[in-house]
Amino acid sequence: MRGDGPVSDAPLAAYAADDRRSRGRRYAEPPPQYRGEFQRDRDRIIHSNAFRRLAYKTQVFVNHEGDLYRTRVTHSIEVAQIARTIARALALNETLTEAISLAHDLGHTPFGHAGQDALNACMREHGGFEHNLQSLRTVDELEERYAGFPGLNLTFECREGILKHCSPARARELGDVGERFLQRHQPGLEAQLANLADEIAYNNHDVDDGIRAGLIGLEQLAEVPLVQRQLQEVRHLYPDLGGRRRVHETVRRMINALVVDVIQSSAERLRAAQPADIDAVRRQERPLVGMSEAMQSQHLQLKRFLQEHLYRHQRVLRMTIKAGRVVTELFGAFMQDIRLMPEEYYEAARRAEERAGASARARCVSDYVAGMTDRYAILEHARLFDPAERT
Ligand code: MG
Repeated sequence: MRGDGPVSDAPLAAYAADDRRSRGRRYAEPPPQYRGEFQRDRDRIIHSNAFRRLAYKTQVFVNHEGDLYRTRVTHSIEVAQIARTIARALALNETLTEAISLAHDLGHTPFGHAGQDALNACMREHGGFEHNLQSLRTVDELEERYAGFPGLNLTFECREGILKHCSPARARELGDVGERFLQRHQPGLEAQLANLADEIAYNNHDVDDGIRAGLIGLEQLAEVPLVQRQLQEVRHLYPDLGGRRRVHETVRRMINALVVDVIQSSAERLRAAQPADIDAVRRQERPLVGMSEAMQSQHLQLKRFLQEHLYRHQRVLRMTIKAGRVVTELFGAFMQDIRLMPEEYYEAARRAEERAGASARARCVSDYVAGMTDRYAILEHARLFDPAERT
């Protein structure tokens, strides 16, 4: 045992988040005995209901389409893996980086972006729906686990990282975590990193999943320079290698090239800016964690390729449209009669309406729909709309 008190990470840079100097939690709590504050954040996230639900929520392919595709939870773990490697290399706070990465998608609806777009349209007159805000709402309000407070009562630094984007109008309602969007400040480096690792993770695993689904091919992907360079190297080193191994040898090199580039470019920017601490990081005009310009443009080309050939592929679109319809119809049915929801949601919606009107009721309906897993949404839809199904 390493003595009493929190067991710390590797030595931190001056500009890293440090839980001994955290801006704290919304509700004061005694410090943990053997863990740091950010370890406690991460552990609370892992034990939450919303985290377990990520196992049955779509990343690109709906849960029942196959067992090998990424789900929101395996995506989140891959984000954490990439972000932690970079955090350690830059002497940032690895534990906070992991906590933000694991929590970043907690507010996602069933059926990925199709679900979010549909719910946003349903909520148009009631303030809209945005998954970043919903992730924050999940950890601040919706999780019900502790006697002393609603939500998970995470540290400011973790909440700051979860709230990636926010409109100025919304920012005004959010208090401390909203301020930076009004002042045009940056979040801490761990938050910047988790955000970038999210993009790196999904662009690469969507290549892998897209190939597995037979919607895109490695040869076709070779028109993207980032893929081409790695594929050429794999062909050169292993001329006879084919199938899954060739795909993985290519994708692992793509991830590595991006990670190495982010580490080197960010280290360079940090050396130039010399931020004295996390507040100096926040006052910067631009993020200090990032890719080189050359890599940024290659990464963008990959993103565009996936948009055109994978996310808009006819097979993905058919599912997207179906999923959007399920979410819209569920929302409509519950709005028409909130008694169709389970009692705790119905009671919450009734009380919210009494207290704050129709939009507050709509928010409760949206919370219920957003929390659903893919399979729960499909089942609930059948129970509500198919008279042959048991209710
Ligand atoms: Mg994500």
